Order: sequence, then structure tokens, then C-alpha cells
Amino acid sequence: MKTEIVWVDREDMDDGMLRRAGEILREGGLVAFPTETVYGLGADALNEEAAGKIYAAKGRPSDNPLIIHIADWEALEGVVREVPEVAVRLSEAFWPGPLTMIFHKRDCVPYGTTGGLDTVAVRMPSDEIARELIRQGGGYVAAPSANRSGRPSPTAAQHVYEDMEGRIPLILDGGEVEIGLESTIVDLTEGCPVVLRPGFISLEMLKGVIGEVKMDQGLLRSDDVARPKAPGMKYRHYAPRAELKIVEGTQEGVVSYINKKVQEDSDTGIICTEETRAFYPAGHVKCIGSRKDVRSIAHHLFGILREFDEDGVSRIYSESFDSPGLGQAIMNRLLKAAGHQKILVKEKDTQEEM
Ligand code: AMP
Ligand code: MG
Repeated sequence: MKTEIVWVDREDMDDGMLRRAGEILREGGLVAFPTETVYGLGADALNEEAAGKIYAAKGRPSDNPLIIHIADWEALEGVVREVPEVAVRLSEAFWPGPLTMIFHKRDCVPYGTTGGLDTVAVRMPSDEIARELIRQGGGYVAAPSANRSGRPSPTAAQHVYEDMEGRIPLILDGGEVEIGLESTIVDLTEGCPVVLRPGFISLEMLKGVIGEVKMDQGLLRSDDVARPKAPGMKYRHYAPRAELKIVEGTQEGVVSYINKKVQEDSDTGIICTEETRAFYPAGHVKCIGSRKDVRSIAHHLFGILREFDEDGVSRIYSESFDSPGLGQAIMNRLLKAAGHQKILVKEKDTQEEM
């Protein structure tokens, strides 16, 4: 199958192209498209066979459910049994936008879309290309990130092409995405709302709107004591080909530790920030953004992990970005990419591996 990439101008959308893309979805095919979080791989969510094609194209385990994307509030009732009051308030605050909510599903939603679950995840993206495609495609588009399973999520159409060439007919290119991390997922099907995946909408932002919200305990551990509740969160994800380790400690300690590693082997990748860039004289140094602007770090993370694959380095050391709010989502992705390998640098010369 030949994969076509077509540029779509948000300011002046090509109706004919979006209608064509919508038709592919209605006929049970796949289309990749931009959203404000990452690029999605779309299929008609109410067509089990179409949803199945997503799993095949991605190489995604079949128990990992898909998020249904809608363009209009009224569409929600078509796929969920009831809309709790907290969902109304959260949607008023954060939809359209990077928040996914989990509800009890209606019978029309096939188990092939929900990975066999009786619950369904729904999001209304804000990206105009995504919204128009969803409308043209019948109103319900199942769309996970458009990467091959296990790879970093795509934040540009070229990343989708790298992973999906020959597997899907069409990629809508809307340029680089705005946020660069997947949506926050909050489960509303049990008593207290629970965050199953941190994202741009932080725990604090959710609490500001609905009061009590918990973080899934399984997210905070790397052992088997508590497993993450979102099936997808248990899989290794985002992994670059090189071995990645996160180095934590004082700025001086971290810089000195990483530089020592580069002296041992100059084919080492470094993920640093604008604040520390000048302190790394050697190695494959990539600046992820500024600590004064955490959004810039989120925006560049997945792209940088992909770039290292092209550079062919054998190991990568990353500074740590642990901070409240968006920092939680960044660290969640980075830790997964690193297979939870973290080095704690206690003082300049004594370090401990965790
Ligand atoms: P992706 O679309 O690739 O960003 O992944 C979607 C994420 O949402 C995965 O981690 C899924 O496990 C999670 N998810 C989707 N539907 C549900 C659901 N009904 N219950 C729990 N997690 C879900
Ligand atoms: Mg994904």
C-alpha cells in the first residue's frame, strides 16, 4: 500500500481532502491526523473490523483499549451509558482539549474498540483538522498515537511516516503538534475520579474543578505491588533504541556524572536543558528546552528520543525533570522510555544506581 502525506492548512482547510479522508474512515480504512497532543491513527470507532486494523498497523496488544474522539458534546451520549455531573464540569473546563474521560460504554461500542472492557475512553480534541475529520468520518474516531507499538509517540507527520509507511493510505500533515504529550486520562466509573495517565491537564487543575481526584497508585511504582489501571500503561513505551537512564541530583552532581560517562564513551547521548547546555563539551548533546518553560520540554521530548535513533548512539543519559504539574507527565513518559532506570547522584563523586 502506498502511503500519501497531504499538507492541510488549518487557516484554509481543503474541504475536498477532508471529505476524502472522512470517506476512507467511513469505509473502514485508517487515516493518521494531527491533534493538539500527538498524531493519532484513526478508524471508525463503531466498526469493529476497522478498529482491528489499528491494532494490526501498530502491532498493538489487543487488550490495550482505544480512545474514541468526538467533535461535538452531543456525540458523547451516543457512546456512553450516563454522563456523571463531574464529567459535565470537567468538559466545561477542559473540552475541547487534552483530557480523556472514562465512562460505562453503550452496546453500540464494540469490544474490539475497548479491548474487551465495558468502559470506554472519550476525548474531544481541540485541533481543527482533527475535529473536521471526525465530523466527516461519522462522528466517532478511535485513535491511539500513530506510532508502531513501543516507539515514541509521533509529534510530526514525518514521524508517522517513519512508522506507518506502507501500512496506511493517508497521513494528514498539520505540522508540529502543540503539546507533544498524550492526553490526561481520568476514570469516572468508580466512586472517586482517578487519574490513570498524567498529561497536560495536571492533578491540581482537575482538583481545582471537581475537588477530590486521586492518582492511580500503579503509576507511581515500577514494581508489581500495584499495577496501573489503564491497560496501556503497563507496556514498555516510548523507548529509544539506545539504553536510556535518568540522572537525578544537584545540577553540579548531575553534570559531573554525565560528563564522566561521556569521557568513557563519546558515543553517548545527553538530554539537557538550556540552563546546562554550556556545561557539556562532548557527546551527542540535545537541548530539550528550558526549565523556566516546562511546556517546551514536553513539546520536544518524543522528537528528541526519535532523533537519537537516527544518531545511532548506544546509551543516553537524561537530566531529570521532576516538578509538580506538567513535570509529572514528562517524568511518567521519560521513566517509561528508560524502563525506570534512574541514577541518584548524591554528591559530586558518590552515586548510587536505583
Ligand atoms: P493511546 O491512545 O495510545 O494514547 O493509549 C490510550 C490509553 O488509554 C492506553 O493507556 C489505554 O490503556 C487507556 N484506555 C483507553 N480506554 C480505557 C478504558 N476503558 N479503561 C482504562 N484505560 C483505558
Ligand atoms: Mg500511544
